[in-house]
Amino acid sequence: MKVIAFDFDGVIAHYEIWKGVDVFEKPNWDVIDAMKQLKAKGYHIIIWTTRKVTPALKAYLIRNNVPYDSINSCKHNPPDTSQKPIYHVFIDDRAVQYRGQNTTKLIRTIEHLINTGAPILAEDKPVEVAPATQKEEAVCPG
Ligand SMILES: [Mg+2]
Repeated sequence: MKVIAFDFDGVIAHYEIWKGVDVFEKPNWDVIDAMKQLKAKGYHIIIWTTRKVTPALKAYLIRNNVPYDSINSCKHNPPDTSQKPIYHVFIDDRAVQYRGQNTTKLIRTIEHLINTGAPILAEDKPVEVAPATQKEEAVCPG
C-alpha cells in the first residue's frame, strides 16, 4: 500500500499565521479534491501536522469532507520507529525536496523558502540573505 502524508496548515487548510489551537483557516479545495481522488485510487492517506488531534480538528475534517486514514500516526510503522509516518510522498508547504543538491544550492534553496515563503524556481534569482540575528534565531514560526 502506498502512503501519502499531507500537512494540514498551508496544505489542507490555508494558513497565514498561528491563531490558536482550534482556529482553522478556510479549506483548500484543490488539495481536498486531490485527497479524495487519491483515496478512491486506494492510497493510504495520513494527515501529518503539528496540531493536536482535538475534537474541533476532527469536526473540521468531517465538515469539509477531508478523507484520511489516520492523523499523526501510521499503523504501518514498525513498533521500534518514531511517530513519523513511513510515507511515499509528503505534501508540505514548507518542504525542500532533497535531490542531491550540493551545500551551496541546498542552503540557497532553504534560505529562499525562509525569506520568501515560496520554493525556489529555476527562473528565480538567488536571494541575498543577511545573517540571522540572535533574536530572529529564537523565533519559531507556527
Ligand atoms: Mg504547513
